[in-house]
Formats: sequence, structure tokens, C-alpha cells
Amino acid sequence: MFSSKEEFKETFLRRLEMTYGKSFDQISRKDQFYILGQMVKEYISKDWIASIEKTRASKTKQIYYLSIEFLPGRFLGSNVLNLGIMDVLSEGLKDLGIDLSEIEDAEADAGLGNGGLGRLAACFLDSLASLSLPGHGCGIRYKHGLFEQKIIDGYQVEYPEHWLHGFVWEVKKPNLAVEVPFWGKVESYTEDGKLKFRHVDAVKVLAVPYDVPVVGYQNKIVNSLRLWSAEPTIYPGLEDVARYKRETEAVTEFLYPNDTHDEGKILRLKQQYFLVSATLRSIIRSFRKKYIDIELFPEKVGLHINDTHPVLAIPELMRILIDEEGLSWEKAWSITTNTISYTNHTTLSEALERWPIRIMEPLLPRIFMIIHEINERFCEELWDAYPGSWGLIESMAVIAHGEVKMAHLAIAGSFSINGVAKLHTEILKHREMRNFYQFYPHKFNNKTNGITHRRWLLKANPELSALISEAIGDGWIKHPEQLENLKGFSSDQTFLEKLISIKRKKKEQLASRMLKNAGIQVDPHSIFDIQVKRLHAYKRQLLNVFHIMYLYNRMKEDKYFKPYPRTFVFGAKASPGYYYAKKVIKLINSLAEKVNSDPEVNPYIKVVFLENYNVSLAEEIFPAAEISEQISTASKEASGTGNMKFMINGAVTIGTLDGANVEMAERLGQDNIFIFGLRSEEVLNYQSSGGYRPYDYYHADDRIHLICSQLINGFFPDAEEFEPIYDSLLAENDQYFVLRDFSSYIERQKDVSDAYQDQLSWTKKSLMNIAMAGFFSSDRTIQEYADGIWKIQPI
Ligand SMILES: *Cc1c(COP(=O)(O)O)cnc(C)c1O
Repeated sequence: MFSSKEEFKETFLRRLEMTYGKSFDQISRKDQFYILGQMVKEYISKDWIASIEKTRASKTKQIYYLSIEFLPGRFLGSNVLNLGIMDVLSEGLKDLGIDLSEIEDAEADAGLGNGGLGRLAACFLDSLASLSLPGHGCGIRYKHGLFEQKIIDGYQVEYPEHWLHGFVWEVKKPNLAVEVPFWGKVESYTEDGKLKFRHVDAVKVLAVPYDVPVVGYQNKIVNSLRLWSAEPTIYPGLEDVARYKRETEAVTEFLYPNDTHDEGKILRLKQQYFLVSATLRSIIRSFRKKYIDIELFPEKVGLHINDTHPVLAIPELMRILIDEEGLSWEKAWSITTNTISYTNHTTLSEALERWPIRIMEPLLPRIFMIIHEINERFCEELWDAYPGSWGLIESMAVIAHGEVKMAHLAIAGSFSINGVAKLHTEILKHREMRNFYQFYPHKFNNKTNGITHRRWLLKANPELSALISEAIGDGWIKHPEQLENLKGFSSDQTFLEKLISIKRKKKEQLASRMLKNAGIQVDPHSIFDIQVKRLHAYKRQLLNVFHIMYLYNRMKEDKYFKPYPRTFVFGAKASPGYYYAKKVIKLINSLAEKVNSDPEVNPYIKVVFLENYNVSLAEEIFPAAEISEQISTASKEASGTGNMKFMINGAVTIGTLDGANVEMAERLGQDNIFIFGLRSEEVLNYQSSGGYRPYDYYHADDRIHLICSQLINGFFPDAEEFEPIYDSLLAENDQYFVLRDFSSYIERQKDVSDAYQDQLSWTKKSLMNIAMAGFFSSDRTIQEYADGIWKIQPI
């Protein structure tokens, strides 16, 4: 049906009319999307079935990537691109007077994640399939993904979103459903003289899988993303069936909208066990169909846990091996610890998961028993290594002070622990997890994050992609390291001019989006300076705000001060319960109102807050960016991936030496990135030894003094609104070193403005960023996981 545009048009029109019984021009975009999506899904299914058959027949190792979040965004465009039917489709649609992008816009984002962690999982799935590797995603089919954000009077307001309406890509597999038990108690009994345990009187929830195809880039490989949905079982055997139904469905109703804070809710723990248990039951079942010897498990199956949210895979696999497969503890432990690998995503202590025993034990009685035993044995091992060191052992224990420490469980129960950027891994090894590193040095390794350059460059920026292919051929699409060949064009005036005109075009497109969405007219000739990411104190959107206030104040003081025109763009969702983050959103919007409406300053600076930052909006933003704001407090951003999406689209970074910025700087050299601020060592030393006094900066620097005062002196309409932000800096000792890094940031921003004015030399920097971005493709990251951790081969 996609072999020629004529054939495509005919099928498309026939199906539209058959389905809706209306003439073509009366059918909405949404309905057109639905039909086109179904056609594409049908087209995928042949390769999908063939891939599944191949897996069934072959005995190669399979990887299951368990993640509580996946943030794929839209599927239509990337599926069409990966299938290689883009030209047929867009030309056919053009004949019908439609632009493919208009139909793409009718697809809702699959927003089953908060930010970087979920987006990483989605990029990894794309790379696994595109590298023909046998790796599948396992997640939760939340009925409502991340909330939709609206800005009303400058405040964030959250609305539920409905991504499942018109979601064409999934296939429900009711015959593969499994039951997941909660509550109840553990009974012991003897069988063949052995003491055994079983979980009885449980409330059972039916886990029903929905599979979504993951299409590799023009290689006929289609992997799966399996999303589990909670449904009532047919015979719950309970009195209050209505309540049972309600509580069951609640398990997969909502994604928790928390980015880095630990969410200590019982429903969250239910979600975690639900994902893990459903996934493992179905993996064991298909393993058992193929193999007799359970000891082959680690050779044939790899389970990767994305952060600690799926860490209950460790006790759950132990439970299955002991209670259901009849293995000894020692055998089961050896299989488990050779199967599971773990990625750590953060060292922020508020984000390290800990579950109180009083919550875990009644909900998951058998699982808790096993964790308890894991802890006993782990502490004995520690005792043998460090006899008498009670303090050390207590600090490393899996259970301490009435809580289960999920990261400790992950480290004890897996064979590989990786950080997500060089700096982050070093901080893990030598600071946050140093005791574990000393005990298990061989387990620790680094896998610097990446992004799929197919979505973030090839799909998001077709103009730049075409220019690149014209210059160096299209080998970079499969081998992104070839982007480095672009370095040969850094003195090619014609090439640089083409680069300039593409950036201009993408800026104009974003400018019309900003006019449409935010009602703000911006000058496409101004510098597009962009910070888009979740709103969090450590990411320091506040520092960016302070730079804008500084420019504003200088313009007001000195009528001859005229900065090079800039448009400051923000996009950020705050967790609904995160009071400070919401205040910063309000501050950005209050500042935008002041700046944009003031004719003395608005020819030079404009501030735009784009509401509802998500994957599809991100795809419009990165190609238009000239300055990428990556200004987290050094040591706090484990890697960042937004930084890489900017880089590959030719934006130049202003940033701290944090996360993957460090490796970007290493590759780019100091001429092509603007680094400022405290180094991670300095931050960590301040934090361990004290000595930072924000008041010193407040008193010594008039610029800081003025800006801080403006937060509370009526400069903004409501003088009390921003008091909490003022207090965070002065009364609460400015935990994220905003005042400490202010002057270094302002100086560097001046360097940026100066550098920008030499257009050719700026464009060379931009080109160098594109050329050096190949390393940050998730193809490279996934190849490192495949070789270094999973030991898997292409299908
Ligand atoms: C890449 C991405 C993120 C992560 O951005 P960081 O700057 O690394 O925090 C968050 N949300 C969306 C929608 C993204 O595409």
C-alpha cells in the first residue's frame, strides 16, 4: 500500500470514505491521522511478526529494559521515516492538498514520562531497534500521562491529558495477561522435606499487556514496547466488587508527575511491583517454552533497570526461582545477580528512593521477606570484609532505620551499576557510593547518555539534515560519528551561509509558533537564547532570570547601554506539589510581562514562556536555538540530554562543567562552548565543609543587591509573591549557589553576545557543535551497553 504514491492515495481515500462515510474534504485531521496511522501500523505488522518469529526461533539473548517511564512523544513521523516511506507518503498527501506535518500535528504525544529519564528510555528503544539488537521496553500503560500545562495569569495550571484517545499503535494481548498479587500473608509449608513459602489471601490484579511496535531505521527490525494495564480479574472473590474495581484500575491510572523527588505513596509502590511482577512472569513463561534448564536464564535474558523504580525485579526474580522453580537460595541468588543490571540517575539525596517497612511489608509480604533475607546475608558478607565496623555496615545495609533503601538493594543484587556521564560516575564511585565502590569495584562503570539523532536531527530538522547529507553523504544517519566530516567545511563560506539561512528559517518557524501559542511577536534577527527542561532549583532557571533582570536594570540606568537583541525562551513543567518551582514559573511570566511591554527595553530583550513543554514542542524548539542554557549547579545534573539535542542542531552552549557538558567541552575545545561557574569539586567541598555565605555576595555586589531587592520591593505587582525565592537565597543559604555563580555567568553571557556579532565565526562554532555531536547519539551509548554490560549481538 506504500509501494507507489498512486497506490497509497487510492488506499487512503478508500479507507477514509469507508470508515467515515464522508467526502474527503469533510474529514477532520484527527480522523485522517487515525486512518493513516492504521495503515502504517498494518505496514509495520509484517516485519513485526517476522521479528517476533525470528526471536522465537533463535536462541540469542534478549534484553528487557524496565522503566517506570517512557516518553516517546509522537510515533507517526518517526515510524514513517524509519520505514523509509516518507517520500511516497508526503508526495501522495501533497497531491491531496495536505502537508504530512498537519496530520502529524493531530497525533497526541505519548507522555508516559516526566523528562530526561523517560526520554532516555525512548531514545534507547529507537537505537536498539536501529542497531538490530534484541532489546524490548517494559513499562506501564498509564491512562493519563504527564499533565498538560496551561499558564493562567502567569501561574501553572495542570490539566489531565488523554493520549489514549486515538492512539493507533498498540495491540492488546489479553491472552498473555498475568495476575499480580498484593496484600494477604505468607504461609509456610513443607514439601519433600523442604521448607517452602506461599503468598495467600492476596488481592489479585490482572495485568494486561499492550504491545507497541518499535521500528528500526530501514532495517526491517521491529522490537516491542510492552505496556501493562491493570484490570480487575474476573473472580476477585471479594465482597465489595465496586471498590475492588476502583482500586485495581487506579494502579495504572496516573503517571506520578514528580521529576526528581522521591514520591512516597503506596500507589507508587503498587505501580512498581505491578510493572516488575507482570514483566517477570511473562518473561519466565516464554523462557520456559524454549528452555528446560533454568540455569541458562542469565545467558538468555538480561533485565536492565532504569533507576531504582523497577528494583523489585531483584526480589521478584528470587521469589519465582525459589518458590516456583524450587531452586535453593544460593542458586537463585547467583542467577539473579547475573541477570540484572542497573543504571543510577541521580545523587540528589531527596531523589534516592526509600520505602518504610510499615508500607512495604503488608502490601508485598513475600517480597519483603526476601528483601529481609537479602539484607541479612549482605550484612554478613560486609561483616566478613569489615569485622567490627558497625557504622559502615549500617550505612551500606539494604534495610536500616525501618526503611528499605532501594539503591542499596540495586547494587547488592545486580552485576553492573552504571552512571550516565563520566563526571556522574566518578562522583558515584568516589563520593556518594564510595563504600559500595570499594566493596564491588568491578560492578561500577560509565555509560554516557545519548539521544537518537534520527528523531532530534533527521526528523526535527529536515533542512539541516539535507544540507549535511549534501556535504558529507548520508552515511551519518547510520553512523553518526561521520558527522565529524563536517569539520572540513568550517572555512567554506558558501556552506556556512547555507547553515545561516537554515537557522534563520527554523527561527522564523519558531517565531510563528511563539506568536500563535504565547501571543508574543519576536524578532527572528535577535539571538534565540533557550532554556527548556523540567523546572527545578538545581537546574537554576533563576540564574537565567537574574541575567535578564540585570540587562533590564542596566538599560534603565544607562540609556546608552544597548545589548545585542536577544529573545529569551523558557519551557518547563513544575511538579504540581513543588512550591518553589511554581514560584519560578510565575517569576518568569511576571518578568516577561514587564520586559515585553516596556518600549525602552523590548527592542533589545524579549522573554517568552512556552507552555506545555513536551517532546513534540521540543522538536520545534531545538532546531531554532542559538544558545543552549545548561546552567545547573555543578555536580547536580547527572548527565542531561537536552544539552545534546541543542548541540546536534548547532546551538552553542553556555553552561557549567556538569553532567555531559564536561564531555561536550572536552570534544569541542574552549572556543566552541562557554563555560562558567563553580566546578563540581568546589560545590561538593562547600557542601561538606561549609563556608558559603550568600550575604557576602548580596552586600558586595550592587547588581545582586538590586535584583534580590526587586523580588520583594514592589518592582513586581505583588510584593509578597516572590518572597519564598528571596528567602531561598538569603535565609536558606542559597543551596544551589545562584549568587555565587552570578558574576561569572554575567561575564560569560557578555562573551556570548560579543562572539555572536562576528557572524561567520559564530557559525563556525555552530558547525563544530554539529560535527562533534555524533558521540552523543544513543547509538553509541547503546552499543556500549550491548558490548560492555549485556553482551548481546545484532539479530
Ligand atoms: C530531552 C528532554 C528532557 C530532558 O532535558 P534536560 O535538559 O536534559 O533536563 C525533558 N523533557 C523533554 C520533553 C525532552 O525532550
